[in-house]
Amino acid sequence: MLILSFNIHDLSEQMTPQKFDIVIVGAGLVGSAIAYHATRRKKMSVALLDVDFQGKYSSSELNAGGARAEWFHRVNIELSRLTLDFLASDPEQFGFRQKGYVWLYDKNKWQTYQRLAPLFKSLELNIETWTPQEVQSHIPYIDCIEDIAGASFAPQDGIFNPNLLKQFFRTHAKKEGCAFIDGAYVKAITKKSDSLEIKYDDLCYASQCPNEKEVFELLSQRNTSQDHPAQDYPERKIIATRVINAAGAWASKIAKLYGHVVDCKPVRRQVSIFDCKGINLSPYGMIVDSSGVYFHAEADHILAGFATPHEPSGYNFTYEGDRFFERDIWPPLAHRMSKAQALKHKTGWAGLYEVSPDYSGVVGCVDPAANIYEAHSFSGHGAMQSYGVGLAMAELILDGSYKTVDASSLHPCRFKEGVSKLLYEDFHI
Ligand SMILES: Cc1cc2nc3c(=O)[nH]c(=O)nc-3n(C[C@H](O)[C@H](O)[C@H](O)COP(=O)(O)OP(=O)(O)OC[C@H]3O[C@@H](n4cnc5c(N)ncnc54)[C@H](O)[C@@H]3O)c2cc1C
Repeated sequence: MLILSFNIHDLSEQMTPQKFDIVIVGAGLVGSAIAYHATRRKKMSVALLDVDFQGKYSSSELNAGGARAEWFHRVNIELSRLTLDFLASDPEQFGFRQKGYVWLYDKNKWQTYQRLAPLFKSLELNIETWTPQEVQSHIPYIDCIEDIAGASFAPQDGIFNPNLLKQFFRTHAKKEGCAFIDGAYVKAITKKSDSLEIKYDDLCYASQCPNEKEVFELLSQRNTSQDHPAQDYPERKIIATRVINAAGAWASKIAKLYGHVVDCKPVRRQVSIFDCKGINLSPYGMIVDSSGVYFHAEADHILAGFATPHEPSGYNFTYEGDRFFERDIWPPLAHRMSKAQALKHKTGWAGLYEVSPDYSGVVGCVDPAANIYEAHSFSGHGAMQSYGVGLAMAELILDGSYKTVDASSLHPCRFKEGVSKLLYEDFHI
């Protein structure tokens, strides 16, 4: 896997800090998508800044690559659909296997799906509904259907390679002049009269790339580096007219630096990779079981994930291995497919969901006087919304309002405005 990584020490060594029109904190899929759209729209100086451009602990590196358009709210559907259309414009480039999402519903979820069907229809989402028997005829491996009330199949959805998409965003942003500042751990954002000053620890001062252990120490701590400096790094600063907080599961920590309290939490999510003789899922896209376990073919193996209920929030990257696989993955799959009795666990990993109070992302200007924007907490769907969110954010900043998709309902301040402003999403997995 080719990772672009840049370091611009010369920037920070200047006596006068360099100024940018836009500084994006966080170079995951969302930050990179914003850099892509912002640089291609107008000639503004943009800097993309991350403690680790390789993204070893970023969610963009650790996700399952699923992309689908079925959501409870129009804005989530539209943002996902923009990304899906973009992926479909060049499937090979993004490793996009457009083989659909199949959702298997129990009685309750089937009722929920049916309530949503008119919204899907009004937005012209192409979705077939299947009876349990049709599920079995389309996917013969699924031979236990007695607890399934119905299913949906959305052929426009699929699985893509998030790394290829991120590299695409970054390559194009770089070509358009975006500055990449690697090894920059942001620790202070100060409002000045007509600008913002961003201070960061420079992890790249001595070597080419940030050291993995140091990155882990910084990203796994609860508080800011000011509270717990791992060691003394050289401090650098840059000046921005606008700052965008795209720091994923760390966004609430970054928000604190400019005085915004946002109740979004990092929550561990695990995925397993395993083999199963006799099951070939390569003709299918993502399958979401009624238990909540989702699975798809991954190279010659199978990938499956599950959002363990009551997982405490925190920066926990420990994969529980056999324990997780045998407790959360194997039983529902062995129940659903008799051939899955013989699953052979190989490996897996843990990454972070960035969970907002209503499971919808946070997008918008949080402080118009200081020009501070946020795009984070996509609660497990940031990869599939990244292209759309990047476009929306670029429009908000460069045009002063949303043009393609009205994302104003995802405003960062909605959580303070009462339940009626919440965009509760129940289709998250
Ligand atoms: C197991 C798992 C499965 C998932 N499956 C899917 C899926 O199938 N489909 C889907 O759409 N989504 C999925 N997601 C969610 C998706 O991966 C995320 O929503 C998305 O990647 C978020 O991107 P981001 O750019 O906002 O955050 P990230 O990719 O996490 O990027 C944030 C960046 O901020 C940087 N940063 C943090 N603090 C600082 C600081 N102080 N200074 C400098 N930089 C900092 C980090 O280094 C990081 O690179 C999954 C997530 C997990 C964990």
